[in-house]
Amino acid sequence: MTQTIIQTGDPVLRELARPVDKVEILSAPMQCLIQAMKETMWAAPGVGLAAPQIGESLQIIVIEDKKEYHQGATQEQLQARERFPVPLHVIINPVLTIESAEYVQFYEGCLSVKDFVGMVPRARNVKVEGLNEKGEPITIRAYGWYARILQHEFDHLQGMLYVDRMDTRTFSTMENYFMNCP
Ligand code: ZN
Repeated sequence: MTQTIIQTGDPVLRELARPVDKVEILSAPMQCLIQAMKETMWAAPGVGLAAPQIGESLQIIVIEDKKEYHQGATQEQLQARERFPVPLHVIINPVLTIESAEYVQFYEGCLSVKDFVGMVPRARNVKVEGLNEKGEPITIRAYGWYARILQHEFDHLQGMLYVDRMDTRTFSTMENYFMNCP
């Protein structure tokens, strides 16, 4: 079932989320929560969602970057962002490691800071280790936009939002962003 997405200012978005062990992951309420997170992400729509965004302070994220979301962008924009479709997956208790000294700057937004964007530097390459929705260990190596999504969602579990990392002078409404940055 689709959940309301919590907006910035709610303390749950500033908490350190707690890890979830394998037994709890496999429990019916947790599987229901994961399903609700997927449905909420699809409905928004967004390319990722962290459990605190629906009011649950747990270390769970869901990610899916569908090809259809790329239709509004040009090939040049997609290439510059190194953005490719990413299939649906769940990451629990992620540990994120920055794997290159190279940082790239692009505008990003957040479903919990609705209708705004800002320019955020993110590492180009990251490694994420954690568990999937079956409680099995997974390791992800990502670059480009996928690496950005992973860093953004990981931050949510630490109580951080992109506005903490952005160049504050670039903070913009979505409307102005689309007017000024074709
Ligand atoms: Zn977000």
